Amino acid sequence: MPAATPAIGSSQPSDQPAEKTALAGNRRWLLWGLLACLLASLMGTLVWLTGRYELSQQQMQLEQDAAAVVSDIRSGLNRRVQSLQSLQVGDPSPQGWSFEAVALLREHREWVHIEWRDQRLALLAGADSPYWRNPFARIGRASVLSEVGIACATASRLSGPAYANSYYLPQPDGLGMEVMDVCLPLIRDGLPAGYLVATYALPDLLAEMVPRQLLRSHQVSFTEADGTRLAMLGEGQRRSGQLQAQQLLDLPGHTLVLRLDRWIGAPGLLPNVLTALVATVSLALAVVLALLVRDSRRRQRAERELAEALAFRKAMEDSLVTGLRARDLQGRVTYVNPAFCAMVGFSAQELKQPHDTQPYWPPEMAAEYQSRLISRLAGAVPPRTGFESVFMRRDGTRFPVLVIEAPLIDAGGVQTGWMSAFLDISEQRRVEELSRASQERLQATARLATVGEMASLLSHELNQPLAAISSYATGSLNLLAQGALPAEALRQAMHGIAGQAERAGKVIRSVHDFVRRRDQQREAVTPQALLDAVMPLIVLQARKLHVRVLVDVHADAPAVWCDRTMVEQVLLNLARNGMQAMDQVPIAARDLRIGVRLRRPSAGTARGASGPAPLEDAASLTWVEFSVGDGGIGITPEVAQRIFTPFFTTKAQGMGLGLSLCRTVVEQHGGALLYEPRQPQGTVFRFTLPAAPD
Ligand code: ADP
Repeated sequence: MPAATPAIGSSQPSDQPAEKTALAGNRRWLLWGLLACLLASLMGTLVWLTGRYELSQQQMQLEQDAAAVVSDIRSGLNRRVQSLQSLQVGDPSPQGWSFEAVALLREHREWVHIEWRDQRLALLAGADSPYWRNPFARIGRASVLSEVGIACATASRLSGPAYANSYYLPQPDGLGMEVMDVCLPLIRDGLPAGYLVATYALPDLLAEMVPRQLLRSHQVSFTEADGTRLAMLGEGQRRSGQLQAQQLLDLPGHTLVLRLDRWIGAPGLLPNVLTALVATVSLALAVVLALLVRDSRRRQRAERELAEALAFRKAMEDSLVTGLRARDLQGRVTYVNPAFCAMVGFSAQELKQPHDTQPYWPPEMAAEYQSRLISRLAGAVPPRTGFESVFMRRDGTRFPVLVIEAPLIDAGGVQTGWMSAFLDISEQRRVEELSRASQERLQATARLATVGEMASLLSHELNQPLAAISSYATGSLNLLAQGALPAEALRQAMHGIAGQAERAGKVIRSVHDFVRRRDQQREAVTPQALLDAVMPLIVLQARKLHVRVLVDVHADAPAVWCDRTMVEQVLLNLARNGMQAMDQVPIAARDLRIGVRLRRPSAGTARGASGPAPLEDAASLTWVEFSVGDGGIGITPEVAQRIFTPFFTTKAQGMGLGLSLCRTVVEQHGGALLYEPRQPQGTVFRFTLPAAPD
């Protein structure tokens, strides 16, 4: 196990980084919030200042307009004074004056009434405006004469027009208006000669003297000092905002206040292009800020996912037991995982340093590995299934590894090097060795068991030569006791004893050979030699079970490449099983056929425990097929399911190891063991062995 494997999702080790990440995240949000607030206040101030600037501009414009209106009114009033003076041209009579005055009043709507008074303010002539019928009907002219008198006194003192205080003039129809008198002193031959008094209707004065286009958007009014409106003209107040400018209309004898009102739309709602521009820029800034925030959130999420993926990859790499190593196209080690470092006992840094030969290459194999590396860098593709190699640990011990190499392809599909995975297979090797040893022990045991089984047969078989020896010996002794000792008879007896002893010795030897021979060497053995070795034992059992054994070895069957002891045991097992399977059939039908022939690649298939399969798996090899056929009970489907399972037996004395061992032995030789039914009854077991090379 690699040390300190960081596990994803495990709470302890990842708590601190998680807290730090949360803190950093909070701080980042705080900064974003601050930036948003600053930007919002900046934009608000900018819009507000722009609005203010716009208002002050409008206010200034209004002040200028008011001043212009005052100046217009003043010059208008001066022109009116000249018009009034024109009435006195030519020293008119009161009737003629009245006639002229009415004509003048028709032209000037702002005048309500004109009078010609003498030095003591007695009325000489008077005319009302044709637009106002008897304007002084309700209050009477006399009630306002005192004001006129003051104005005229001022006028004679100034020798010019003087204006009286304004006053309200109610009309018979219920309406009324603010009016103002102007008094003009008349001079004749350098001496005062009375006064001309004209009464201005202030609303009409405004209507006549204020430019019309101004009235469309403004309200013009005369007010008193306290703000009381005396006369008003223009657009009424219907909108929310209002700008106001006041100018004094300073007239001789009286001062009026001119007030100009202007209504504006909802304040701050795009009052002009500048504000609109600022507002648009602010809006664009806000949108950009929002986009930035969104982008930043996306980036954060991507960073988080990347960090998680990296942590997962790291945890995966660290917890792998497979060693991983990446090399670039020049053969330099660019990456090794902890498992690989642990496997060879070198640190990642040591392994990544450039070496002529890698520190984990056993010196005796360095040349071979170097040439393998060169061919790999030249583009030789390694086998997909991997290959076995031997590496060396730091302490010098060698260990076998399974290496699987593949090209390292980057995101653009270009090969940037080689990636290798290493599996330490020392343990696997050890287990294989153990299993091989135990397999051998098992086979030896099975062999002994076979011999044990045959012990009774042996004793039966040995009985005959021993009985014969015994009877030869008894006969000879009898002859000796009778004193008659014909040399010929004794020689025959001795010959018989020797023959029988040899026969017994053969039997003993065949068993001895079978048990003792354990050499694992593979050698070329002819099928006949194999059969000869086991035939004595087979014949022994055949005789006991009344079985006929027929052997048919084809002349073209070559020698096989095998471990002869093992194969002999296979033959013996199969023959013994076949004979035992026939103990229920009539003696006449009990025949065991043992055949050997060259296996042609086109030959058919046989049925085995694992279904149909060809007997030969490599066409390049020549195979020799051995068959053992019996006329026994055959194999039922239930038995067939478990026939090769170790310790499966249907016999009271059986061990159930025979067939499983047979199959192992045959497969170890590269062949296959199968069986098929034999006609009309019985079973044929076939196995193949590779033919020995020439
Ligand atoms: P054992 O002979 O000790 O029983 P084997 O592994 O040799 O063990 O055989 C397993 C079983 O397979 C036998 O018990 C028998 O039922 C069956 N068997 C083996 N060979 C034959 C055969 N030639 N004919 C019928 N049945 C057989």
